[in-house]
Order: sequence, then C-alpha cells, then structure tokens
Amino acid sequence: MSPEEAAARIAALTAELNEYNYQYYVLANPVVSDYDFDVKLRELEQLEGEFPQFRDPDSPTQKVGGDITERFNTVQHRWPMLSLSNTYSEQELRDFDQRVRRAIGDDFEYVCELKFDGLSISITYENGLLKQAVTRGDGMKGDEVTANVRTINAIPNRLKNNGYPDLFEIRGEIFMHRPAFQRLNDERLEQGKMTYANPRNFAAGTIKLQDSAEVARRPLDCFLYFLYSDNRSRLFRNHWDSLQAIKQWGFPVSEHTALCGTLDEVLAFIAKWEKNRFDLSYDIDGIVIKINDYGQQEELGFTAKSPRWAIAYKYKAEQAETILQSVSYQVGRTGAITPVANLKPVLLAGTTVKRASLHNANEIRRLDLHEGDAVYVEKGGEIIPKVMGVNLAKRMPQALPIAYPLHCPECGSELVRKEGEAVHYCPNEEECPPQVTGRIQHFISRKAMDIEGLGNETVETFYKQGLVRNIADIYTLKDKQPMLLLLDRFGQKSIENLINGVERSKEKPFEKVLFALGIRYVGETVAKKLAQHFGNIDALAAASEEEIASVYEVGDRIAQSVVEYFTKETHREQIRLLKQHGLQLAAAETTTERLSDRLAGKTFVISGVFERFSREELTALIENHGGKMLSSISAKLNYLVAGDKMGPSKLAKAEKLNIPIISEQDLLDLIGQNI
Ligand SMILES: [Zn+2]
Repeated sequence: MSPEEAAARIAALTAELNEYNYQYYVLANPVVSDYDFDVKLRELEQLEGEFPQFRDPDSPTQKVGGDITERFNTVQHRWPMLSLSNTYSEQELRDFDQRVRRAIGDDFEYVCELKFDGLSISITYENGLLKQAVTRGDGMKGDEVTANVRTINAIPNRLKNNGYPDLFEIRGEIFMHRPAFQRLNDERLEQGKMTYANPRNFAAGTIKLQDSAEVARRPLDCFLYFLYSDNRSRLFRNHWDSLQAIKQWGFPVSEHTALCGTLDEVLAFIAKWEKNRFDLSYDIDGIVIKINDYGQQEELGFTAKSPRWAIAYKYKAEQAETILQSVSYQVGRTGAITPVANLKPVLLAGTTVKRASLHNANEIRRLDLHEGDAVYVEKGGEIIPKVMGVNLAKRMPQALPIAYPLHCPECGSELVRKEGEAVHYCPNEEECPPQVTGRIQHFISRKAMDIEGLGNETVETFYKQGLVRNIADIYTLKDKQPMLLLLDRFGQKSIENLINGVERSKEKPFEKVLFALGIRYVGETVAKKLAQHFGNIDALAAASEEEIASVYEVGDRIAQSVVEYFTKETHREQIRLLKQHGLQLAAAETTTERLSDRLAGKTFVISGVFERFSREELTALIENHGGKMLSSISAKLNYLVAGDKMGPSKLAKAEKLNIPIISEQDLLDLIGQNI
C-alpha cells in the first residue's frame, strides 16, 4: 500500500468507526456488528502501526472502551480497568499460548470463563460492606453508579462468612436475562417507548438511569469474576482459588468455569460453549482465557491497553437463510446513506430478524444482490445482522439486480460520492429532514449542550410541526409555549422542564457549543483545543486553514472542514442568532489564565495512575504554567510524567529515547509549588 493510499484508508476508517461509536454510545443506536467493528478497528490499528504519521488524534484505537457520561460522579479506578485483547481465530490462540510459554515456561494453567455480554462493573467493599460501584468508563475513570448497583439482587450489600480483605475491588459483568429483556422490550413497544436492540444495551441503559427506584424494577443480574486487593497474593496463590473464595463470601460466580492444563482443553471448552451457548438464559459472546497463577500474571504484565496474561476468544455469528423483500435507504446526520435489507422474518440465534445491514453500494454490488434473493444473514453477536451472501441456486430467473438510488429517498437531491469513500451522501445539508434533525439531536446530546427535557423524539416532533427547524430555533421555544401545549403528551410541567433545560444550556462553555455545532471532524477534543487556542468564535471563523492546522493536534483535514463550515452564510447566520440568544461563544477568562511561564517551551506526556492528582488535573497544571502536552512519546519530548501502573511499552520507549522520566512530585518541584 502506498503512503497516499494508507492515509486515505486511515482517514476513511477513522471517520467510519467514530461514527459507529457515536451511534452506539451517544445515540444508543448500534449500526454495525461487533465483529465488523472489530475487524475494521484491527485493520486501522495495523495501518496506524505501519504509518503512525497518519494517525488521527481522535482515532478510535486510542479508546479502551466507552466514554464517560457527565451525569454521574467520575471516579478513578484504583486498578485500571483494561479491556482484553480478543481474537476470532484458533491460530491466534495458539500464538498467544506460544508467547506465554516463551515468557514463563511450560508450567502453568489456564482458567476458562464465559464471556458475558453485559456491562463491566468494578465494586469496592470495605469491611464487608458494599462501598462503591464504578463502570469501566475509559478504563482509567468510570461513572459512579453505586446507588443503582445496590438495587441488583444478586450483588451482596453485606458479605457472608469471613476471610475477605478489609478493602478490595471485585470486577464483574452486569447483564439481563434474555426472557426478561424480551418481556420488558415488548412492554416498551406497546407504550410507544424506544426499544433496546439487545439485552446488553438494555442493561447498560438501566445502570445509567438517574432513578435507582426504576433500576430496581428492572431485573438485572450479575456475575463476578475478578478480585483485586493490596494483599491478594498473600490470601490466594491463584485466580481459581480466589473464585472459590468469593463464592463463599456471597458473590454470584458462574458455574461454567474450568481449570485447563493444556491448550487442547481450552479449545475443547471453547467448542463446547460455541454449541451450548444458546441454551443459556443470557448472552455470551465468547470465552475468556486467563493464566491462573498470580505470580505468573505479574510476570507477564500488561501492554498499554490490555493484560498479557489473558485473552478473549470471540464467537463468530450464527447464520440463517431468508428472503430479501426490499431494500430501504436511511439518511444519517451527516447525510451518509445506509442501505438496509428488509427480510422475511427469520429466527436467528434466538431472536427474530427482520432487517439486516448492507453498508453501502459496494457491498450490494459485491453480493450481486437481486430482488427476491434468498440471502444468508449473520448475527455478529447481537446487533443489527448482516447479509453475508446469496443462495444463487434459488434466484428467480427474471429477478432484476438491486439498483442503488440516484436520489435521496428523503429529499430527492441527487446523491454524491466522495473520492475514496464507499458511502453515498445526500448533499442537501440544509433541508434534508433526517440531516437537519440529526444535527439538532447532536446539538442537544449529553456530551454537547446536554439540554434536559428535550429528547430525540421530541426534536422530530418539533421539526415536523415547524417549531424547530434549526439549532437556533431551540432558543425560541419559550415564546412558543401556547403551541407546545397543543402537542400530545406535552403538559405544563414538561414544558417548564424543557424551557429550563434550554435556558441552562446557555451556560455551557464555548468548547461545548463549538462541539455541539457538529462541524465535521470536530470532536470533543478538537473543539476544546480550538476553543482554547482561538478564544472565541469570531477569531476561529476568521482564521485561515494554516492557522487552524498549526494548533497542536489539529490536522489539515480538520482545518479544511472548519474553514468550509464558516464559509457558508447559513452557518454564520446561525451563529449570529446563537450569540443573540446569549450562548457562550467565547472562552471564559479563567480557562486561558496562565499562572506562570515556568514550564514554557517544555513538552510533557503523562502516563499511569497518580496519587494526588487526576490526569486531567495534571494536564491543567502543566498547561497553566505554560507547558505543552504531547500525545505520544517521541524524540522531541522533554518530560514523561510517570505514575503507578504505567504501560511497559511507554516506559521502554522513553528509556530508549533517553527522555527524563519524572514523578508527580518532580513536576511540582519544576513548577516550584508546594501543594
Ligand atoms: Zn436528502
């Protein structure tokens, strides 16, 4: 692959995966199977490895897991909550086994466990009492959801027996049984509420509810499977023994766990559950394989992202054959068109499937899809299934090939396709209804303006009624109260709620507003950088592409997109209106205030977990004293600030490049502060 091709492919994959993440985490609307996501992510990882110069600062490979929502307290994990590296191939398991043998010899055991398809949780117990429960978040910090987790019957608030450490953390997976999911989802459908795609999303949505009484009404379950404490290795020699003990303390532990002496035994366990998993009342998506002995685990250590002493083997999907009834075309927020196959309902992996993703025109051509074809559908674990192929033997002789539309199904505009991209776009940004509502939904979403009392469905209703046609219209709702009262399900109370939410959003800082505008490629991080650098929207709008691209971590592609955004008169008009409504279009003074210049000209990278400060606090400290943060270790780096549990690869790289590695205290000394 030539560097130009690699750059284009990296950019395309980054944009595609970030959009999937957004759909999944922000809109709770998964559009691609885990398997497809993983395959693309690995392709991106590999390309970024070969061509690190093209890696986007916002690359999805830089995330461990989900993002942190703002509504809960954010809590630092005592032990980082890393995700496991995973594989779909037996050969890669054999490679893993070989790597382990090279590192620790042949004398070891594996523990095999089911990989529950739920929501990871870390629970702290102090003196036998449940103290705190935190979600995975980004692996370093998660959301504190203690009140909600307390409502889960399976999780003990007080431990049984004794022998447990005074203070420990236990990791597990919260999930919902399939029959309960089906029942609750059916109820929601009847009540006209949004339904969930699968039990995992339902469980994840539930654990993040604000009302723990509502959580208590939903039947969540949990399995615990990993113990952390300071004196763990004095209590137990290995993981298996700890599992037996935590059972005695009253924790739910899966009975389907096996101690394996050889890789062949591991493979047999995997094969057994590939067949039997549908007999379980809950979803699993693979098998987790861990080295049993704690000492050997420590010897193997961690990579930057995952432990070297464990791996997850993920199952590939189940297939079924059914008839393609039609293809419909959905238009997303960015104008991207997604073709969807409407299928004759078929039972697949325990659920009825009626729709499957077709991704793009290339995919339809690759499948050579014809009207009325018998197609093979696959469920990559759980999300929207995918059409894998056509049973040509069953094709009707007179069947016509599926013709990709030339015009937008929503607004009739002629579709365009950008060079190097597989996806068609509707270019009618200003008037194409799903694009307009999608942008408004992005604007009000939690990570953006976070407008309470206004949800995605309401946005669509308002749009259809002509009450809100663009983001600035949101701020005119308070003058439209008589009209709001005429709408179904809109009482005085919910209107007040909405108006208050809209008013409060005017206090959101400039960086949030900038992110909320939905400028292509301007994610949260980039919005923050731009807000800090330019200080206000007028300065940004007046900046040239070169100026924008010169901001740390902002590349040409982003700069080009920002400039393009501000050249449009409609956008300028929107911003004028937002300003009139009193939104924050300039950064508050304090964020740019410099405390000193003691670190001026110096660059820093932070790694690991710190005793006194969070990583954000350290970053702020460095920047407030004139220092600059870099995203990775390179020869031009001045200091690596290292905490506990720093990734060994980072350490090795810094040592190789002879970069001074300093502690939290050294940094404070540099600044000359005695905090
Ligand atoms: Zn359109």
